[in-house]
Amino acid sequence: MILVATPIGNLGDLAPRAASALAGADLICCEDTRRTGRLLQHAGIAPRRLRRVDDHTERAATGEVLELLQAGKTVALVSDAGTPGISDPGHHLVRAVIDAGQSVSAVPGPAALVMALVVSGLPCDRFVYEGFLPRSGSARAQRLDELATQARTVVLYEAPHRVERTLSDLVEVCGPERRVALCRELTKLHEEIWRGTLAEAVEHLGTHPALGEYVVVLAGAPAPGAGDDQAVDDALRAALARGLGTKEAAAHAAATTGRARREVYARAVALRGVRPAPSHRAPKAGRPTVGGNPPDASAQ
Ligand code: SAM
Repeated sequence: MILVATPIGNLGDLAPRAASALAGADLICCEDTRRTGRLLQHAGIAPRRLRRVDDHTERAATGEVLELLQAGKTVALVSDAGTPGISDPGHHLVRAVIDAGQSVSAVPGPAALVMALVVSGLPCDRFVYEGFLPRSGSARAQRLDELATQARTVVLYEAPHRVERTLSDLVEVCGPERRVALCRELTKLHEEIWRGTLAEAVEHLGTHPALGEYVVVLAGAPAPGAGDDQAVDDALRAALARGLGTKEAAAHAAATTGRARREVYARAVALRGVRPAPSHRAPKAGRPTVGGNPPDASAQ
């Protein structure tokens, strides 16, 4: 089986080797036969056969794919856009084909996460790809907390109607000053790479509504010793306002500012001794709702 990467917007990005792999395949498994049909038509390819393989049908398609491979036929797998298996169907089929002792290869090509990372201007020597965040509840709150202390650059996919909410949640856990790049409509007519701080990003989306497809690239947590006292206090206030205990808030603020935990704990104790000053940066109280979407906002 051969995994074939397809364009993430600009059809001119279909590689020659991808085109010949698709032209030569006995079966092309794709998420949407009409969409892949249009790509093939654009490339002047008359496919031998297309079969729909999406999140719901991937397991059901496995039997036929294995039979064809065992009969010496060629099967290609594409997704709607980019690299199959990256926040797209593919993994189950790959696993099954490997387990059956058949070969899995790929024609590499576009992946929104890679393009976004390299144009973001943020470090790309070490990064983590987090795909789509959980939409709501404690799973989302927990993932956001993990991201806040992640030292490597973080790449996230997000639906346009949830980008602003996600950035606001990131302000709460990472603080307003963390750098971010919003990579919109990559390779398309309205491609835009916006770079700034998380607080500026929220402001930007307040005046420029999110339209099209987005990748969010977030700078990693600062290196040890990087944060000044004001940054530590801001991080502590935000964590305490979210309902964390002194120790937990100190651990969080130490990780997000890069300061020593003992030092930050002492500041947290001092802060708790006085009523936290109101700050425009401090989020609303109520930890269980941190990062949670209202039920209707989670619908696709
Ligand atoms: N397999 C694809 C890849 O290799 O990038 C990703 C598929 S995932 C279902 C779709 C998400 O990828 C979108 O919601 C968006 O976050 C991101 N994406 C895909 N194409 C994009 C583009 N042209 N510009 C920005 N983001 C894009």
